[in-house]
Amino acid sequence: MEPTVSIIVPCFNEAENIKLFHDAISKIFQELPYHLELIYVNDGSKDDTLAEMKKMQAMDEDHVHYLSFSRNFGKEAAIYAGLNNATGEFVGLMDVDLQDPPEMIPEMLKGIVDDNYDVVGCRRVTRIGEPKIRSFFARGFYRLINRISKTEIVDGVRDFRIMKRQVVDAILELGEYNRFSKGIFSWVGFDTKYLEYENRDRLAGETSWSFWGLLNYSIDGIISFSEAPLTLAVWIGFVSCVVSFIALLVIIFRTLIFGDPTAGWPSMISIFLFVSGIILLSLGIIGKYIGKIFLEVKKRPIYIIKEQK
Ligand code: UDP
Ligand code: MG
Repeated sequence: MEPTVSIIVPCFNEAENIKLFHDAISKIFQELPYHLELIYVNDGSKDDTLAEMKKMQAMDEDHVHYLSFSRNFGKEAAIYAGLNNATGEFVGLMDVDLQDPPEMIPEMLKGIVDDNYDVVGCRRVTRIGEPKIRSFFARGFYRLINRISKTEIVDGVRDFRIMKRQVVDAILELGEYNRFSKGIFSWVGFDTKYLEYENRDRLAGETSWSFWGLLNYSIDGIISFSEAPLTLAVWIGFVSCVVSFIALLVIIFRTLIFGDPTAGWPSMISIFLFVSGIILLSLGIIGKYIGKIFLEVKKRPIYIIKEQK
């Protein structure tokens, strides 16, 4: 029996892409000595994505499974659901928009089987075709998170990767609700090799990431994998305590020496606003963490499946 490779494909409003993706990936696997198990995950799409998946499944029963969520749970949830249902000895993740080049799969599998890596991932070395401003912020984000988090997050790494069973089981052990995949994949460790490739545009449809969506995603990532913002709040508080103590001494001595007790109303208001700003900022940071804890302790399921085959 040929070993099975499961490929998990999260899809959100991707009706136009599924058929083309399916043909591309099937073609690659025709020439490989592996059995392909495709797991399409319909993440609450509003278009004909599910219908397309069913079509593929009916056409290619040996290779295709689909899971369909009761609503949109996000790509991270779709990945988790896929991993939970994958049966292969090797498991891969791929976007359906062909931004993850299927031609790289043979080389990825080689990295695992011949060079004995546990994970082979792919890294975009260019960001051609992406808005400049987005690349700028993305780079900044990677620099920041790597400075403040112990979990290394490599710039340009996509979710496109193939893993051994053992790695998949480790990832499934991390049952957290706030799933920042980039962090989780790196956190579990294992020997990882990155293949490099040039960025390419999506086949059809539009990216589901807005600028604000990405910004929030980065904040979530930082909060899930770093406590640095809390430390920052502590330091800001500490520094402002020291500064205000020195200022207090200065004021006491100045008053004792020169008199003049009532001047300084405007400066007092400015200081008051500054300090309340710091307090609100720190409360906000703490609140962000509490919000995450709140979601974790509720222990809600990460996804809900409506139908599957
Ligand atoms: N996706 C998903 N759920 C979502 C958003 C996206 O399953 O809520 C899927 C989407 O269908 C695609 C992949 O995740 O297969 C990557 O999405 P997208 O192309 O929008 O992201 P980008 O490539 O721009 O990072
Ligand atoms: Mg894409």
